Amino acid sequence: MPLSTLCLHCGMCCDGTLFTHVSLQPTEVLALQQRGVPVGQRADGSPALVQHCAALDGRACTAYAERPAGCRRYQCQLYGALAEKEVSLEEALAVVDEAHALRDALERELPSAERDAPRSVMQRARHAAPALSERAQAAYTRAEAFLDARFRGRFGRRG
Ligand code: SF4
Repeated sequence: MPLSTLCLHCGMCCDGTLFTHVSLQPTEVLALQQRGVPVGQRADGSPALVQHCAALDGRACTAYAERPAGCRRYQCQLYGALAEKEVSLEEALAVVDEAHALRDALERELPSAERDAPRSVMQRARHAAPALSERAQAAYTRAEAFLDARFRGRFGRRG
């Protein structure tokens, strides 16, 4: 199925590339904890799934059948374009490849990750932003602009 093929090739709405948190309903917290998925908080204290999501195995969700409503509802702009047949699967996969390549290019410009640094390259860059080299800043700006234009669309950045 083209949509699942796309998402299994991508994983960026779960691995911290696009977002830092997914909001949770209080009733979802216990179910996730029972699966061994740690639950964090947003700045306002509300429960949230911190990304890179601990339930992600490679690019596949290990809690897919019982995923929280926030995950269930989310579709990125590219997913929507494929669902509406505005782009072919081949074109959509190429967009994901380009996003991964921009993220990889950024990673090459970042200093080595410290032990407690976020797994997500985009989050590492965001945290280091004031001290990034000129090349790293340029790579970061290019990657964020591409993610905004092709994936986040009207949703913007979630924090
Ligand atoms: S960012 Fe879009 S294409 Fe990628 S896994 Fe999420 S919904 Fe699927």
